Amino acid sequence: MNVKAQITNLVPYKPGRSSEEVKKEFGLSEIVKLASNENPFGYSPKIDAWFKENGINHAIYPDGYAANLRYALAEKYSLNPEQFIIGNGSDEVIQIVSRALLEKGKNTIMPVPTFPQYKHNAIIEGAEAIEVPLVNGAHDLKKMAEMIDENTSLIWVCSPNNPTGTYISDQKLRHFLDLVPEHVLVVLDEAYYEYVEAVDYYDALSLLRTYPNLLVTRTFSKAYGLAGFRVGYGMASPELIASIEPVREPFNTNVLGQISAEIALSDPEFIEVCRKENKEGLKQYYAFCDELGLSYYPSSGNFILIDFKKDGDYLFEELMKKGFIVRSGQALGFPTSLRITIGSKAQNEKIIQALKTILTQ
Ligand SMILES: *Cc1c(COP(=O)(O)O)cnc(C)c1O
Repeated sequence: MNVKAQITNLVPYKPGRSSEEVKKEFGLSEIVKLASNENPFGYSPKIDAWFKENGINHAIYPDGYAANLRYALAEKYSLNPEQFIIGNGSDEVIQIVSRALLEKGKNTIMPVPTFPQYKHNAIIEGAEAIEVPLVNGAHDLKKMAEMIDENTSLIWVCSPNNPTGTYISDQKLRHFLDLVPEHVLVVLDEAYYEYVEAVDYYDALSLLRTYPNLLVTRTFSKAYGLAGFRVGYGMASPELIASIEPVREPFNTNVLGQISAEIALSDPEFIEVCRKENKEGLKQYYAFCDELGLSYYPSSGNFILIDFKKDGDYLFEELMKKGFIVRSGQALGFPTSLRITIGSKAQNEKIIQALKTILTQ
């Protein structure tokens, strides 16, 4: 088969073991999965309430413009509806941007380690991925700006960064954006935006007004708890959105996702509760790390990367035997770490106990 040469060396995304499989293999009755930064508190109860009251005709195509969701987003952020591109998860927005801007002869700059889809899509499009190592878990924005050349068309910034959880301050980000030429697009991936507490965090909406070459992505998969429905979006100037829209599939988001996301926006209290719970959960892990002298990055997301100075895969396996599924740092560029999604208070307590047992056995 004549697939593009650059694809032959790519490996497809390897999903983690399912809870059912793990239950069977280790004879467990309960599994706590804290591997993919899903919301441990689920999603707004208003969504199930709506579906109990309302039926949906599955024979009809979704609204390709996702008008109701789009208007709800525009109202929430006081933006023009034409400033949104709505994707099948923000993963798809990443893919659309890559398809629209990247090709052989072009390059794209990104930190490393970070969310792997930026590089993955760059390779598929035949573009060069220029990876700039993190410094202390944070973007080296100075170095990233220095790497820009005449072939650069796209730069990825992930804040809070997955898997380190580090955020970028307003001052640092503005300084960086000032250095980027206007013909280079900067994508700011804010998948964990709703969890950020830092007072010197930037306001992405105000950045959009200053920088016409900026596109901000957010998602309903993390704090909104709708990962199963696949809805994410990008925000930028109407001109920028119009220039990439032709790449989007006509019916890329589905009926259930559009409705659920729209209802989710009407329940900001749910997000507020999750943000508070997450903050308390992070404190449980910080206390645990401090007690055991483990190093970690203070996180602005709903996950924490902890360096155990032991093989991540070994710790992953040991936790799995006890019914906890987390992410080994081996695959994330931090071989002696684990990335753990912040769970409910009780889940965090249990996993911390399990880790203490494993570390002393
Ligand atoms: C989870 C995640 C995404 C993708 O989320 P979708 O489910 O596709 O919306 C994008 N970026 C980062 C950094 C993530 O962690």
